[in-house]
Amino acid sequence: MVIRNINLETVCGITSKLPENKKPEIAFAGKSNVGKSSLINALMNRKSYARTSATPGKTQTINFYNINEEVYLVDLPGYGYAKVSEEEKKQWGKLIERYLHEAKQLMAVFLLIDIRHEPSANDKMMYQWIVEQGFAPIIIATKLDKLKKSQVMKHIRMVKEGLSLIPGTKVIPFSSVTKQGREEIWELIETEYLG
Ligand code: GDP
Repeated sequence: MVIRNINLETVCGITSKLPENKKPEIAFAGKSNVGKSSLINALMNRKSYARTSATPGKTQTINFYNINEEVYLVDLPGYGYAKVSEEEKKQWGKLIERYLHEAKQLMAVFLLIDIRHEPSANDKMMYQWIVEQGFAPIIIATKLDKLKKSQVMKHIRMVKEGLSLIPGTKVIPFSSVTKQGREEIWELIETEYLG
């Protein structure tokens, strides 16, 4: 994908109306600090356009990045903040649920998992939840550069088993440092979801 222009077009909070976009939407979910902003920035060829690790409470929004008037990259609010109250968790759940239910143009959901660690209980819940909403999430295993090459296969297996992935689910290793995986992700989006 040649990035010609990008625009943070809509920021949706818990009380906002969701946009009725006319172009395909591709959403990204993952726990806080997994590297979601870094991935979205890498996909957009920017250093810091998408927020990076904001403070808890400030992150309960869904951000829609319009790319070339062709596709939206949708940044879902991260989960797993230690300091978030039960009420905030509930609001977070409602916002995401509303989006997954109502988004007519949502074509795919990518779930980010840190390649170094066993998926957490929250990661498993998020995966199951996305599946229950009728999507087959594609997994992006982030921070690939933190592993030795010889460890990668083992860790991919750990992610697959940890999430009990539906057989055939794609797992794409990615590093925002080396940008490895960036082309593969765009190629998948372009071939599968953009007409
Ligand atoms: P977010 O909270 O999911 O949006 O995570 P961020 O993109 O803000 O990243 C959290 C931290 O991990 C930051 O310090 C990033 O620099 C770092 N990080 C993100 N992606 C990578 C990666 O691929 N490799 C390495 N080594 N660090 C990364």
